[in-house]
Amino acid sequence: MKKQSSFDTKVVHNKVDQTLVQNSKNTPIYQTTAFTFKDLDHLESYYEGDSPYLYSRERNPNTDELGDSIADLEEAEAGLATSSGMSAILAGILSVAKPGDHIVAAEDLYGGTHKLLTKELQTFGIDVSMVSFSDQRQIRDAINARTKLLYAESISNPFLRVENLTGLVELAREHGIKTMVDNTFATPYLLRPYPLGVNLVVHSATKYIGGHSDVTCGVLAGDKDLIHEATQKVVTLGANLSPFEAWLTQRGAKTLGLRMKQQSHNANAVATALRQNNAVKHVYYPEFVSERGNGAIVTIELDSSIDLDQFFKSLGWIKIAPTLAGVETTVSYPVRTSHRALSEQDREKVGITDYIIRLSIGIEEEEDIINQLNQSIEGSLK
Ligand code: PLP
Repeated sequence: MKKQSSFDTKVVHNKVDQTLVQNSKNTPIYQTTAFTFKDLDHLESYYEGDSPYLYSRERNPNTDELGDSIADLEEAEAGLATSSGMSAILAGILSVAKPGDHIVAAEDLYGGTHKLLTKELQTFGIDVSMVSFSDQRQIRDAINARTKLLYAESISNPFLRVENLTGLVELAREHGIKTMVDNTFATPYLLRPYPLGVNLVVHSATKYIGGHSDVTCGVLAGDKDLIHEATQKVVTLGANLSPFEAWLTQRGAKTLGLRMKQQSHNANAVATALRQNNAVKHVYYPEFVSERGNGAIVTIELDSSIDLDQFFKSLGWIKIAPTLAGVETTVSYPVRTSHRALSEQDREKVGITDYIIRLSIGIEEEEDIINQLNQSIEGSLK
């Protein structure tokens, strides 16, 4: 008679016959570090490319699903999900640039990207020149024989400058170099850089793609060979995304279109209303991003008649948050958060002063957002 397993053995062995679990409406969460094999032929089939999963740092169905779905939305050949926007940027850059290579990047990038490019890439032997991408001559002058990549944001942070992607692609092709674009602020709902010829599109999916401020995640979409290279970097550097976070991001992405539609609509209304407020010196809100809208970030320059401490204390239900893109309207202070890493000189160069405030507009009722912001501004006049 077969001997019964003891308590400690029984308790750790799975009971579900996974071959019988089919047709789940949602993709299950494959919260596992590894996959098992029924015999050695099955194990060998992994190395022969017939069986996709071995170890989750290398590949997992949830991260695959997210990478594939973003590639689909970006109309790109392939996609990849990573542990954060920063790791996706690093993996993308390392898929193109090797030691001794050079990158030309826009000077008005997210502070973390600025730091990665100016401080960390040197340790990989990669040089970076940062110039104004509003002026093609500056890009042209910065390109040298070692340049492999042009790097920009489709809508810049925090001044929302819309990059001329067609011009950038033309220039890059003229010099036989690649282009990489951070599409976080626009999202593929509004803008798709890949069909315009950009080789790699990156997102902090922590922002609109996830959409609910509950997951840190990055995605890359682009040319198949570059995504393959980037995947190798992610596996080796251990910058992979956890299955649960991939699943959460994928769930959030289902409402990306609905959210962007409502948030862009509200942002347009907020920008229009704040232009009427005398205590707002300038409203930065882009035009012509897409026929679907112009995004959900509005950056304002407050007048010096505003007491800034009082403004941040008077925001009512609008929270101060060092991020953007949630379903709730939030306010961020670039000098103290996203662009804190820049030297005072670099901040001055791109125009980030104490009076610059970045608004991330949510899905609430537009009148409520406008009223709350106007009240906060009026309540903080010196
Ligand atoms: N790119 C942009 C435009 C961002 O705003 C951010 C973060 O704020 C990042 C990249 C970095 O993304 P993550 O925080 O997911 O690493």
